[in-house]
This record gives sequence, structure tokens and C-alpha cells, in this order.
Amino acid sequence: MKHARQAASPAWRPIEAFYARESANPLADAFAGRRPVHPFVGMTPVPQHDWSRVWEGMAAGPRRGKSVAYLHVPFCENHCLFCGFHQNSWREPLGGGYVDALVEHLERDQDLPYQAEGPIQAVYFGGGTPTLLSAQDLARAVTAVREHLPLAPDCEITLEGRAQDLDPAKAQAAFDSGVNRVSIGVQTFDEGLRRRLGRKTSREALISLLEDLLVADRAAIVIDLIYGLPNQSLAVWESDVRTAIAIGLDGLDLYALKLMPQTPLAAAASAGKLTPAPVETLGAFYARGAELMARARWDALSSNHWRNGTRERNLYNLEVKGGASCLAFGAGAGGFLAGYSYRTPADVAEHAERVHQGKPLIGALMRQSPQHRLLNFIKGSLERGRLDRLALAERVEAAAGLDLERIAGPLFAQWERAGLLTSDDRWLDLTLAGRFWQVALTQNLLEWLDQILCDGPAHADRPAALA
Ligand code: SF4
Repeated sequence: MKHARQAASPAWRPIEAFYARESANPLADAFAGRRPVHPFVGMTPVPQHDWSRVWEGMAAGPRRGKSVAYLHVPFCENHCLFCGFHQNSWREPLGGGYVDALVEHLERDQDLPYQAEGPIQAVYFGGGTPTLLSAQDLARAVTAVREHLPLAPDCEITLEGRAQDLDPAKAQAAFDSGVNRVSIGVQTFDEGLRRRLGRKTSREALISLLEDLLVADRAAIVIDLIYGLPNQSLAVWESDVRTAIAIGLDGLDLYALKLMPQTPLAAAASAGKLTPAPVETLGAFYARGAELMARARWDALSSNHWRNGTRERNLYNLEVKGGASCLAFGAGAGGFLAGYSYRTPADVAEHAERVHQGKPLIGALMRQSPQHRLLNFIKGSLERGRLDRLALAERVEAAAGLDLERIAGPLFAQWERAGLLTSDDRWLDLTLAGRFWQVALTQNLLEWLDQILCDGPAHADRPAALA
């Protein structure tokens, strides 16, 4: 089950490179900085001349395991200060043609096994800003999804968007066509911060819209809040979380601000015009938010998502992190299928043309690690704040004939000493600090295991790896 490490791969790193810093305040000090989970651990690019042939094989087989679908709407009205996902500026006439291409693609492939065979548990309209579409176009897109994808009877259908675009008529059209979850990017309720982020809706109008959506009682209503924004004090953050709790939403995400390159925020920060919160202070924001959620008795569905009541399930996000197949529709959408990760062409005109010509919708294609099921098991488990050590040991033994305790026991023990997890004879449970650093822990464990599983037991025998 081994695969050869690419020549260009980084050099072997000893286990100590994956350790956390041991200090009295792990929330602040455990790692030097927050890292994104690199989605490409163990992946190999497929040469472009092979894309069509590989895609034909992917599309010809039924999906295995859990499945979700992602529909991308790559338009934004403005470029929000912190965002690295802005692709195309919105103009109203663009919506109709874009939805035509989406619907045509859904219809075109409806009989191919990859699309037709196996229930789909969750659908996510993301972007960009899907709520920029007109009520009519939104309804057309959701209806096409319901007609041409084999949705499970309890399928979660999420519409992501911004409050300023979601008037009552549009919300009604979305619910009537089948949307049962709405995710609004709020970021903050603070008027001053909202203006600086490029958000146009006032605090009052925002709260009123959320209350109206809840009164309609037709979908789970969830929002996200960001901590670490420039000039955001702990008191402002606390007020944001308290406001979200008081509204009585179904779900709430609490995210740390990521200073992504090529964002207006990164440009403003390097010009000295704005200063995001220092990384070592972010843990205190997370701890305060998590404490308020616990006090309000909301359930933590993952390290950064809480639910209130029973309507919210957060299915799409949890299944995708756990390695579900994900069918991608729209320009610049990412998917996973049959052991491959793929991205559709990002150019809107090229996307529409390819749909029309019956060509594969591939703009990038990577073969996942031969160990992707094992790696996804770890990602999905740590996302939920725990890891079944016995189940992981069985998978490592089956995949590579290796003893988990021998190759990763020292890492788990060090993380426990660093205050990031607790353990019993079966489970590793992330502490509050471990949940804050969950992404770094996941990335470190994936990279360490990928290195061992790819390069083999010879490396696992190195004394440094077993110290
Ligand atoms: S936050 Fe959303 S609306 Fe703002 S630029 Fe990013 S994708 Fe567009």
C-alpha cells in the first residue's frame, strides 16, 4: 500500500517537528501560528493530457459511502476586507446565463453513474454570494438540483449568502423551492467593524432579518462570527456572541480571522493602516466564545460550530471533512470523487462553453493519497474534537501493517503534556486549547502519518521517530 514520495516532496522531518510547545498557556503558545489544513496531503497532480480519460473512469462508476454536492456561485458585489475567495464582480445580467449553465450541467449528467447512483445527503450553494441571484434564478437552480440529483429524503440544502441580498420574497422563493438551511455571513454585529469590513447592512436591519427568517420557521438559520478583526476588543467579541445567542439562531460558527495573502486586509496590514489581533491573543477570544456557548447550553457539533435545539445538523461541513464524495457544479467549484480531488474551470464563460459542448468540467485534477480514507477518518474525527484511538490503530494496521502506538504514541503523549488533549484507554479528546488548535493538530498528524505511510516502516524505525 505504499506510494513513492515525490522527488519534489519536503525532506524527512523527525517526530519532534510535529510536537507542540509546552507552556502554562497552551491557548496562546502551543504552536507558532495558525495554519490552514492543507487539502493536498499525499496528493499527486494528474497530467492535463490524462484529465479526460481519468474523468471518464470517475464518472462511469457509482459513488461509494456518503455523498454531498457543492454548487458554486462565484460572484460578489464587493471584495470584503478579509476575504481570499473573491472571483468575479457581480452584475445582475450575469445571473440568468450562469444558472442556465448550472441547470444544463445537472441535466446533462443526470444518467451518468457518478451522479445517478447513491443518495446525496447534503447540498451546499456557496460562493461567492449565492443570494445575489434573483429569486427566480435561485428557485430554478434549487429545483434543478432536486430534479436531477438523487437526494436523500432528509437531504440538507444550504443557501449561503449575505443579509443585504436576502429580502423576504427571495427567502420565500428559496424555501418554496426546497432550501432548508440558510447560512448568513454576519462576521460581526458591531456597526463600526461592519463598515470597515465592507458590510452594508446595519446591526438593526441584520437582527431584524434574522428574526424574520426564524419566525418563518422553514429552515435552520445559522450565521458565522469572526474574532481577531482589526480593533475588535474582547468586549466587542463577547457582545457579538451574546447577541447571536439572544436572537435564538439554530446554529453559530465562531472563526478566527485568517490573514490571507492578496486580500484587501493583507494589503492594509502591510501598509500599516490596519492591525489584526496578534495570533497569540486569538485563543482568549475562542475561549470566551466557547465559554458563552457552553453557558447557554448550545451543543458543540465541531470545534467551531454550535447548535441550539435540534433543527441544525451541519451535515455538509461534517461529511465533507470526513471524506464524503462531493460532486462539484458551477465555475471554480471543488469536488472529491473516486479517489480524486478536482476543480471545475474557474472562468465563467469557459465553464458554460464546456457544459454546452458536453466536455468534462475539469480545471484541475489530483489523485488522492492511497491512504485518503485513513487521513479523512482523522480529519473528520478531530473536527468533532475526538479520535477513536482503537479504530485508528485498526486502520493503520490494515493499511500499512504498522503499530499506531509505536509510530504516533509519542506524539499523542507529547500533545497531552502540552495540554491539548486528554486520553483514556480508547479515546483522545481535545481540550479547550486542543479545540482552538485543532487545525494545527490535524495537519501535523496527517503530515506525520503520510510521511510514515509513504516512506514506510524503514523510516518508522528511526530512533528519532520513536523517541
Ligand atoms: S466574504 Fe463572501 S461576499 Fe465577501 S468577497 Fe468573500 S466571497 Fe465575496
